Amino acid sequence: MGSKNPDRVPLSARRHHGETVGLMRANKWKIRSDCPHCRVAVNISLDPIICMRGPLYSLWDRTMKCPNAACSGQARIAAIAPGMHKYEAMITAKPFDEPPAWLRARGIILDPKE
Ligand SMILES: [Zn+2]
Repeated sequence: MGSKNPDRVPLSARRHHGETVGLMRANKWKIRSDCPHCRVAVNISLDPIICMRGPLYSLWDRTMKCPNAACSGQARIAAIAPGMHKYEAMITAKPFDEPPAWLRARGIILDPKE
């Protein structure tokens, strides 16, 4: 009762499992760049990012230079967690994705694992 189909839990609700690149690797997330200008998507390894920036670095709400050399656009970073069927952009949830204010005011937190 009350459990959600895992493939319907949005990335933003899984954020506590992937707040940092170290957590993302530990929880087997995969990432890719998604460029809205040239539409090129490139798989990215977490290991070099962890090497350069450390395991506490966060990719949420960041963009990167498009890996397509012919494009000068900024690519979004998208991720997929185990149980998901498509990549989703790593952007902070919009207000309408958050629990309603009356729930937050009462300290009731919706746990996506339940
Ligand atoms: Zn591009």
